[in-house]
Amino acid sequence: MKIRDVLNAKPSRALVSVAPGTGIRDVLNTLAAEKIGTVVVSPDGKAVAGILSERDIVRAMARTGAEVLNGTVDEFMTANVITCAPDEPLDGVLATMTDGRFRHMPVVEDGALIGLITLGDAVKARLDELAYESDAMKDMIMGH
Ligand code: AMP
Repeated sequence: MKIRDVLNAKPSRALVSVAPGTGIRDVLNTLAAEKIGTVVVSPDGKAVAGILSERDIVRAMARTGAEVLNGTVDEFMTANVITCAPDEPLDGVLATMTDGRFRHMPVVEDGALIGLITLGDAVKARLDELAYESDAMKDMIMGH
């Protein structure tokens, strides 16, 4: 299975990004309103400048306290973002996410952001694939 298949299986392909310079209070409002745990930071909705997860905010608050709320997304985001392409196999992307201990993977095609895969999306797709393979194997053994 390819990452493109995982994206196509998602109920919604809407991707939430914020521009560099966005205030942390606005980011928190976006995370709460959209019921999500991360935003991609992008100047134009295409180029990936960074990624900010709720974990980055929690860690920054533990370090410096409520002052974080007066900062901007650029100060706390991860700038070195690992992305994947839509034609990459799911297995490899799942391994990259588990090895790197992060739960979000922006999907980039021709230099532009086209979606975001969560660890949950990837695990669900892999389980569906395994169930399909197991059913096909059983059918073969039973001679159906
Ligand atoms: P997460 O598990 O996705 O909430 O993120 C855990 C940590 O990894 C946070 O510091 C994120 O900024 C960072 N992170 C999340 N996704 C990525 C990614 N695709 N590439 C690099 N770092 C990431």
